Amino acid sequence: MSETKRAVVLGAGMAGILAAIKLRETPNVDVVVYEKSDRVGGTWRENTYPGLTCDTPSHHYTYSFARNPNWSSYLPPGPEIQSYFEGVAERFGVYPLTHFGEECIKAEFLNGKWELEFASGHKDSAEILIAATGVLHHPSMPNIEGASDFKGALFHSSRWDHSIPLEDKRIAVIGSGSTGVQICSALAGKVAQFEHFVRTPQWIMPVDNTPFTAEQIASFQDPDVLAEAMDFEGYAAAVNAYTEALLDDQSEMAQQMAGACLMNLEQSVQDPELKEALRPDHKAMCKRLIFSPDYYQAIQRPKTRLVRSGIKRIVENGIETEDGELHELDIIVYATGFQADRFVRPMDVIGRNGVSLNTLWADYPKAYLALSLPDFPNFFMLNGPNGPVGNFSLVEIAENQWGWVEQLLEPVLSGTASEVCCTAEGMITYEARREEAARKTVWYTGGCNSWYLNAAGIPASWPWTFKDFEVAMANPVWADIDLR
Ligand code: NAP
Repeated sequence: MSETKRAVVLGAGMAGILAAIKLRETPNVDVVVYEKSDRVGGTWRENTYPGLTCDTPSHHYTYSFARNPNWSSYLPPGPEIQSYFEGVAERFGVYPLTHFGEECIKAEFLNGKWELEFASGHKDSAEILIAATGVLHHPSMPNIEGASDFKGALFHSSRWDHSIPLEDKRIAVIGSGSTGVQICSALAGKVAQFEHFVRTPQWIMPVDNTPFTAEQIASFQDPDVLAEAMDFEGYAAAVNAYTEALLDDQSEMAQQMAGACLMNLEQSVQDPELKEALRPDHKAMCKRLIFSPDYYQAIQRPKTRLVRSGIKRIVENGIETEDGELHELDIIVYATGFQADRFVRPMDVIGRNGVSLNTLWADYPKAYLALSLPDFPNFFMLNGPNGPVGNFSLVEIAENQWGWVEQLLEPVLSGTASEVCCTAEGMITYEARREEAARKTVWYTGGCNSWYLNAAGIPASWPWTFKDFEVAMANPVWADIDLR
């Protein structure tokens, strides 16, 4: 019988909860989870802005082993997602494994183990280290002149200040990604004045987000009815078709998606001037596609304005735009996105022979299949760099990734090897192949800038179909793996 190994999971968001549950069920593994905040949930704990919704169909935004029949609508609202993850963590015994308020600041592989240091001064060591530290968690704050002069409230969308009542306020939201659009849909027409500052209009795909009826929810309690409603085959086909469209902007599917977005704009916006102001200048799907049932309706509500003029500066009572107008405001929200190149950082990760993650990622983050790094043994990132982020269920992605990690860990857990990671050659060859494919995707050819592009201007995402991803996760290429 092989020795028990210790595994540390960093982060108790969706991926960390998954890893903890899976490792807990693995024989000969002692697992402990460290979470920097005081609650599980990751993204869904941090983001609480009005209108917060996930654009993946709710029934598919669940672990395969813990379906949820109780979602209130087709697209899951943020607070329900947070409750779902808290419930799963409770049900599958994640809480007793988790230390809250512990931020890992350094991990170094020394003498066959990861030696871990925490901001609190706590130390630990483990043979296996899983970084489930999230993707978009460091806010990107725009450098706007005068921001510190503003006398009202100013905060990032992921740091919403719920102490401020909104109804009687003049509110500006800067940014038109999924976040800015969702906040606009939630608040426009319901506050004293709502101004949406849009530098680059986005394509909006219409989606029906009708709440489920009480009868439907009751029927979903039967797993067979739920499975039928989830239509796994149809869903998989749709996801695959969507990824095919991303890979070829001339494909029929890409044309259909673009057509649906164009028709949405043409039919939903009445005022010709507003319609032109909302018309994107890049190809549909170049930026992460926004699914919204009501953004165009929201921006046309009373006491609501689209602002296309550039921001000149922030002054004590509002925003001054390039056209000379002063927009008087009580609240400014930066829906300006996140630093998408952080991943496990700012933690200092040092692999075999002193090789550091920051050196390896000096130009931009990369990893073999988004999961493994050469000379970082038994270290795996869930939802690491260049993985299939997009309009899909990150839960399903993490579960597929775990399938790959599990296979790699098998020799270590069975005692036939003690260290496993990709080879340097494997990663270089993989990344070259990935980059070549990424340059053919609409993220590159579509004529836009977005957080999908890395510092070298190359799309930082999985540039093949979702089917290809599932196949890659199920079938590790052992020639690319360094087992010692
Ligand atoms: P984002 O997509 O990166 O959008 C940031 C927005 O801020 C862009 O419109 C950008 O304009 C604007 N911006 C940035 N700096 C600016 C400046 N200095 N002045 C004016 N405008 C500025 O960020 P996000 O909306 O938070 O979304 C990030 C990601 O989170 C999404 O792509 C998605 O993956 C995820 N998300 C998902 C959901 C969901 O429904 N599943 C919901 C919310 C977020 P430019 O385009 O001109 O750069």
